[in-house]
Amino acid sequence: MIYLNGEFMPIEEARIPVLDRGFIFGDGVYEVIPVYSRHAFRLQEHLRRLQASLDAIRLPNPHDAAEWTRLMHRLIELNEPEDQSLYLHVTRGVAKRDHAFPKGVPPTVFLMSNPLVMPPQVQVDEGVCAITASDNRWLRCDIKAIALLPNVLLRQQAVDAGCVETVLIRDGNMTEGAASNIFVLSGGVLLAPPKNHLMLPGITYDVILELAAAEGIRHEVREVADRELRDAAELWLTSSTKEVLAITQLDGKAVGEGKPGPLFKRMYTLYQDYKNRVMRAPGH
Ligand code: PMP
Repeated sequence: MIYLNGEFMPIEEARIPVLDRGFIFGDGVYEVIPVYSRHAFRLQEHLRRLQASLDAIRLPNPHDAAEWTRLMHRLIELNEPEDQSLYLHVTRGVAKRDHAFPKGVPPTVFLMSNPLVMPPQVQVDEGVCAITASDNRWLRCDIKAIALLPNVLLRQQAVDAGCVETVLIRDGNMTEGAASNIFVLSGGVLLAPPKNHLMLPGITYDVILELAAAEGIRHEVREVADRELRDAAELWLTSSTKEVLAITQLDGKAVGEGKPGPLFKRMYTLYQDYKNRVMRAPGH
């Protein structure tokens, strides 16, 4: 079951007019929210990021947080899996093709749920491989825009190389992955690039930094040079659906010992514990 413009329906029945600006221009934004045991993880944070994306593209938010929450809870109920991946999508609606914003046109609001597919255990235990590429995206990577052609092309380069992610480099610094944030362990310090217009402010990124702070793990938020990436003792990728995974091979070379490192193992456990804790907390 999905939600489209005020109605819940089977996905097969959902129809979008061809003049939807999402289809014509990629003129819209989205969110992906993991649901564990029917509880949406970090819901308020996802809704805040959605608001930031909508503000950035100057599209009024069609719903307040209470209404979004109601729609999402209903969609979770209507779908079978206990663990789901919720997808929220807002476009600038349907109008005659013209770049300039249409006037008085309601936005298109679409929500769907898919079963939450966690990374296979072998990826957690053994790590994954990644390649690097030049970050050729635009300069507003902080907006969670549905126009993802550069990310699609960059991620496919990884798949073509038999890897899971492409780590992006811009002006000598690491920005993020094609669909994930990247952490680097260098000189005993966990490094993360600062949130700015060059990367998506990941919800998982925030969780990892909060856990590092709470556990007294040395960490710094600052520019991470290409060299530090290549000489890393450990490399991790993070995202809502992949949680945290160790990158154990980069451009065909072993990262550190070529297997998930001790800090990764610690953080993986901290993340699972945190998830279980908040999912059981009152209010969920
Ligand atoms: N960067 C990009 C480009 C992404 O697409 C994503 C999400 N898939 C992330 C980072 C990670 O964000 P989050 O932890 O909120 O899933």
